[in-house]
Amino acid sequence: MKVHPCGHVARLGPKLMCRHLMGEDGLSHDYVHLLTGRGMEYHLCCEDCDKARADGVEPELLEACEGCVERIDDPDNRALVGWRGEPEIPRRPEPFDAVPFRTELPRRLREPVDFAAVAGEDRPVWMVLTDDGRIMRFDADTGDFAVLGRVRLPSETGRAWNGGELRRRLHVAPRGDFAAVVRDYGRHGAVVDLATGKTVMKLDGGDYRCDTVPFSLAFTEHEGRTVVVHRTDWNRVDATDPATGELLTDRTLDKESSLDYFHGALHVSADGRWIVDDGWVWAPVGIPYAWDLRAWLSGEPRVAEEGLTRLAYRDYHWDGPMAWAGDAFAIAGIGPDDIALLDGVVLVHPGNGDDSPVNVFPGPRGALFGDARRLYSAGPDGLEVWDPFTGERTAAVPGFVPARHHPGARELAAVSGPVMERLRLPA
Ligand SMILES: [Zn+2]
Ligand SMILES: [Zn+2]
Repeated sequence: MKVHPCGHVARLGPKLMCRHLMGEDGLSHDYVHLLTGRGMEYHLCCEDCDKARADGVEPELLEACEGCVERIDDPDNRALVGWRGEPEIPRRPEPFDAVPFRTELPRRLREPVDFAAVAGEDRPVWMVLTDDGRIMRFDADTGDFAVLGRVRLPSETGRAWNGGELRRRLHVAPRGDFAAVVRDYGRHGAVVDLATGKTVMKLDGGDYRCDTVPFSLAFTEHEGRTVVVHRTDWNRVDATDPATGELLTDRTLDKESSLDYFHGALHVSADGRWIVDDGWVWAPVGIPYAWDLRAWLSGEPRVAEEGLTRLAYRDYHWDGPMAWAGDAFAIAGIGPDDIALLDGVVLVHPGNGDDSPVNVFPGPRGALFGDARRLYSAGPDGLEVWDPFTGERTAAVPGFVPARHHPGARELAAVSGPVMERLRLPA
């Protein structure tokens, strides 16, 4: 049998590597992935070889045994510091019969603070939050609008940890009966009954490092009623029936049973079965967790602490694009660390109970939206359409960069000044 350059007689590894990553000393080096341009294939070289590469000296890449490759390129090694080169993006062009069109916003709705879909409507009905705190219902097809409520949050100053602004965010229940206005990277929020316009809940997510996360909030439906899931402290979320004020997740959390986890943005699956929480733990490490939302709302309130499935583990990285695509969940960015994330998607299946991906594919950039069949990415150049299960790009709409998805009306939309730009998704 052949002796590999790593000095071992063993099965040949799937990647080439520079000499410095071999042997005892190998694990002492940071390293990069050198993409070859064939699919997501890559080889490995150490940081010094990478620096020499930048000066035009190509590293000598050698064969190594399977064990040597796995030892270095192990997610637990956490020494990956970057990707170099470009991956190949597989394409399978399909007809995508959709052209963006413009709808003028009524004067009072222009330059809104935020807008959100009434997801349970099959018409393009949106709620719009204006700068003076009014929540307006807006039918984008007819142009009809009405003021349904007004919310003033306690004032807050400061900045988000990532340098961004504190900002108000609008969330709307699927059937449009309740809305919430929260301050992302802030502490306060409120839930409004849209039938009466009255504020029915004042939300306080606590002030411990609330600047690091969008305010945790999501609406869902459970047994025919609207439920709001919301942060009640940095390490606690609860679910409340906003019509009655009934707390559905009553539990006592002591030092033992509470999490050391900063809850972040919440993403509920379309069928209401799962919830994903894009939070983080000290180091800091971003760890999106999923739990069984239906069980949580059906008398198992400890599922949110004891029934968590970890979906990713990324140093210094959270609050990135994520979306449900059917019962799979797409997480933007391939890699273990903020400094080593390749544009692309890791697709996981919370129902599988672990974070082993069902697919990993390069390409998607920007905000993600999904439905049962497709994944949409709103990158800087425009919309791209993906088959999340094969990783192929099937269509693109250059220049259209949507901010919100209306699942019921099957539309993507962006608002810019006086105009809502819309795209109807083909079936
Ligand atoms: Zn090297
Ligand atoms: Zn070896």
